[in-house]
Amino acid sequence: MLQIPCPWCGPREEEEFRYGGEGMPIPADADDATWARVLYVRSNPAGSYAERWVHAAGCRQWFHVVRSTLTHELLEVRPLGTPDGEATP
Ligand SMILES: [Zn+2]
Repeated sequence: MLQIPCPWCGPREEEEFRYGGEGMPIPADADDATWARVLYVRSNPAGSYAERWVHAAGCRQWFHVVRSTLTHELLEVRPLGTPDGEATP
């Protein structure tokens, strides 16, 4: 089973978390076409993929994860609101 390191609680089993979709940035002045892309289009890369997760059975905090879609290795975990780094495609 996958272990996800919550930025606040530390490593926990995957079943404590819920997937929140792709972690792409949403501009403050996004128009309808941008919102449609954010809500309905997934990039589906072979490699690094930025996602949002919530620790639903724990602290209930949202955070970003960069995961390899090839190996499921977690390459980066950081709280929302921190500098984008590699977590934004
Ligand atoms: Zn947590």
